Amino acid sequence: MKSNAQVVVIGGGVVGASVAYHLTKGGWKDVLLIERSELTSGSTWHAAGGMHTLNGDPNVAKLQQYTINLYKEIEAMSGVSTGMHVTGGLNLAGTKERLDWLKMARARGRYLGMNLEIISVDEAAKMYPFIDKKHFVGAMFDPVEGHLDPWGVTQAYAKCATMGGAEIVRFNRVVDLKPRPDGSWDVFTEKGNVHAEHVVNCGGLWAREVGRMVGLELPILAMEHHYLITEDIPGVIDPKVDKFHVIDFEGEIYMRQEGGGMLIGTYEQACQPWSERETPWDFGQNLLPNDLDRIAPSLETAFQHFPDLGKAGIRKVVNGPFTFAPDGNPLIGPVKGLKNFWVACGVMAGFSQGGGVGLALANWMIDGDPGHDVWGMDVSRFGDWATMAYTNVKVRENYSRRFRIRFPNEELPAARPLRTTPIYDRLVASNAVMGDYCGLENPLWFAPQGEPPVENVTFRRSNAHPHVGAECRAVRAGVGMTEIANYGKIEVEGPRAAEFLNMVMANRLPPVGKLALSPMLNEKGKLIGDFTVCRHADDKFLLICSYAAEGYYLRWFERHLPKDGVVCRAASMDYPGLSIAGPKARELLASVVSSDVSNAALPFLSFRRMDIGMIPALVGRVSFTGELGYEIWVRPEYQRALHSLLLQAGKPLGLVEFGMRALLCMRLEKSFGTWFREYRPIYGAFEAGLGRFVDLKKNDFIGRAAAAEEKSSGGKLRLSTFAVEADDADAIGDEPIWRNGKVIGWVTSGGYGHCVGKSLAMGYIEKEHADAQDGFEIEIIGEKRPAVRLAAPPYDPTGVAMRS
Ligand SMILES: Cc1cc2nc3c(=O)[nH]c(=O)nc-3n(C[C@H](O)[C@H](O)[C@H](O)COP(=O)(O)OP(=O)(O)OC[C@H]3O[C@@H](n4cnc5c(N)ncnc54)[C@H](O)[C@@H]3O)c2cc1C
Repeated sequence: MKSNAQVVVIGGGVVGASVAYHLTKGGWKDVLLIERSELTSGSTWHAAGGMHTLNGDPNVAKLQQYTINLYKEIEAMSGVSTGMHVTGGLNLAGTKERLDWLKMARARGRYLGMNLEIISVDEAAKMYPFIDKKHFVGAMFDPVEGHLDPWGVTQAYAKCATMGGAEIVRFNRVVDLKPRPDGSWDVFTEKGNVHAEHVVNCGGLWAREVGRMVGLELPILAMEHHYLITEDIPGVIDPKVDKFHVIDFEGEIYMRQEGGGMLIGTYEQACQPWSERETPWDFGQNLLPNDLDRIAPSLETAFQHFPDLGKAGIRKVVNGPFTFAPDGNPLIGPVKGLKNFWVACGVMAGFSQGGGVGLALANWMIDGDPGHDVWGMDVSRFGDWATMAYTNVKVRENYSRRFRIRFPNEELPAARPLRTTPIYDRLVASNAVMGDYCGLENPLWFAPQGEPPVENVTFRRSNAHPHVGAECRAVRAGVGMTEIANYGKIEVEGPRAAEFLNMVMANRLPPVGKLALSPMLNEKGKLIGDFTVCRHADDKFLLICSYAAEGYYLRWFERHLPKDGVVCRAASMDYPGLSIAGPKARELLASVVSSDVSNAALPFLSFRRMDIGMIPALVGRVSFTGELGYEIWVRPEYQRALHSLLLQAGKPLGLVEFGMRALLCMRLEKSFGTWFREYRPIYGAFEAGLGRFVDLKKNDFIGRAAAAEEKSSGGKLRLSTFAVEADDADAIGDEPIWRNGKVIGWVTSGGYGHCVGKSLAMGYIEKEHADAQDGFEIEIIGEKRPAVRLAAPPYDPTGVAMRS
């Protein structure tokens, strides 16, 4: 084994082998993969080897497509068979909602280039003769599904990696990791030490243990998982023709042909974590004891839905562990606070996602950017609130819901309430329907007193619709108050703070006492943040941003911070704010402060330290509603007092409390984008309509050259707002946008504009269509709905209200 390497990849499962291959493919030849035992000795060896492109996140679906397309390449290059069988897959719907869900998946597939087809139960039964038709209402056929040999795939990746220059050392455990001051790593192994510039944790079942070597507690947990293989079923299954690959969502079962029989896997409700605190090092190519009682209810369902399967004997049962993150998506990327330390773990579908994970991580390491939108997999999305116990509860919930529909308005119950603000109990007492955002409770909407604060989950308009409408109208007609504790906040201060922010922000910094909106760009000019930059003093700033991305931003800042002169601090939970908005908002504020808050004294985009009653506060004159409004930030110990004061003072003005749902509807009426929806690292600032916040004339900043290029070329896409002829369902996001019989874009968010009386959608379209207004259609739950592109925001297009 060499004693120096550019990168040490820890773990030779399918993910580690893919990472090693992609690094060599990207040009890093000095790669050392170290595997504790034989390759595949974690989850990989006993996987069922199923693969599919379907994923709720289109960005992840793209990487799954990439993964499946890669198998031919690595097979041809290595000469090692991956055992791939592309059989095509049937996705069965047992309910109308599931069929809607499949129609939405098919629609999403249109702009991903996927050829998905909705078929009848009769057609499905012709493809899969075991079906008892009475349990199903329809199906979707995906031609790019199938299965492969987990061992063969891993070996093929590994062989390609070695052909590209990588060294693979087996039967050698990494026992410790120590950072050097220059950010490189000493890797201690059973067979000697290696000095490496970079380390990648692909430890799979042991990723937590590898993380702990560097003081990192990764939010992952292994779950036991069963599948069984039936005896041959002669007359129905021809072992020479591999053709069956089926998911029965309502039955929570997946099946595929295995020789002359069927492999049947379950995601059972009574799920069982494995090795909750630590994974034993002596576990390897072992299986866990079977517990058929646990999966019996799933099997009973399977045998009702597919009666002939129940008649076949069971040849083999497999129970093995594999890891999940709390939301079921992988954890990849660089880790904040640990230079040159990378992770690619928590990959629960290694054969659908392993290639994409390897590609994105290798790009990230080599080019500084994953090259794809991998937010859904980014390790930075979990903060230290995702403790081991939280992870345990959420992973169980996720596992038992693996095949359940997650409705767009559905809030999951596990691990709640966890994080609450000081006014939480008051919001609940006011009949707020609460949502969970990064473990933090926040009000979504307020049910009328006397009605249960419960929302029915649906793809269509829910029982919240009229109440959210009433909240929106009350704000726009008078004044409303909402909690905005779930906005992210980062404090940046020090003598070089302005210099630093000028380098990472695309807009000019505001003067003291003002705030400015600013995109943050990466070197390629793509949007990696969207901030309200508030300036307290020459050397002191408060950044308001998306809370979910707090860790993502801080990691980026860490990468670009000068050696001294600037301190960045996560402050999201230090300022649980309240926002007041509406034409009477000034009157309300004026009644609780002694300072002058007239438009002349406190104009739009002001930012001040103020006393509100007895409460020291930071006040920004801005509102996401598009109304005259104020965001008021106070320390947690003052939030209750502020809430009481504003409620009391607001009474004569008819103050209403409103929630996030109304806020999001109102921002749609103003065509305001949000992070992770309209603003993501695949869009440029000019494409996103944020060009006016990119100041190419100020100092040089990250992404300036690329932004200038985008400005002159016009980019490829345009963010647009549409009024949709919807029925009882609005767009929610990820629907295709059609024009002249072609898909020319996709929706990023949608909803109902209660004050403009229109169903609205925002989305990206090819820029060639950006001057047209008519001829658009948006496919909502399988139906193309006529849509008009709006030339201006539907509500207050010139922004009179917010400046008034
Ligand atoms: C029963 C079952 C069925 C499944 N079916 C499917 C399926 O149909 N389709 C699908 O896509 N996925 C399936 N999976 C999941 C799939 O197995 C995983 O997604 C995949 O194997 C994860 O690969 P990995 O490389 O991340 O982890 P692992 O396979 O766990 O690999 C980690 C490797 O790291 C090594 N390692 C750890 N620590 C060290 C150290 N300190 N030093 C050196 N080496 C170390 C380990 O020995 C191991 O080889 C299934 C899993 C199970 C259990």
